[in-house]
Amino acid sequence: MENCAYCNSPLTGRKGKRFCDQYCKSAHQYANRKVKEAFYYKVDRQLKINRKILKKYHHSGISKIRKEELLEAGFNPHFFTHYYKTMHGNLYLFCYEYGFMDLQKDGEPKYLMVNWQDYMAKT
Ligand SMILES: [Zn+2]
Repeated sequence: MENCAYCNSPLTGRKGKRFCDQYCKSAHQYANRKVKEAFYYKVDRQLKINRKILKKYHHSGISKIRKEELLEAGFNPHFFTHYYKTMHGNLYLFCYEYGFMDLQKDGEPKYLMVNWQDYMAKT
């Protein structure tokens, strides 16, 4: 026997039914939308936090920053808006106009900071 996808009551009537009635169907859709929106706002918030942190650490043009320092400030590198791959295969990740790239050289993990340039959109 199947149960309602919203209230979990046993379903009666036609086969393949997912909800008791229109009420359960609407309530389910509403709850679902709320969950999806919550994720959207979470991502949106993190992107803005990331941008704010990158902006703060960006000096003029290119600079290097300790990865740990950014992470401690609340930076989350899994959230970015877009990327740019150089012809040498380096991948810059961006939060809006501020970019960062993993630098695995010289022991301590660092980020190389870059600013978005118009030519990056053309490749
Ligand atoms: Zn139900």
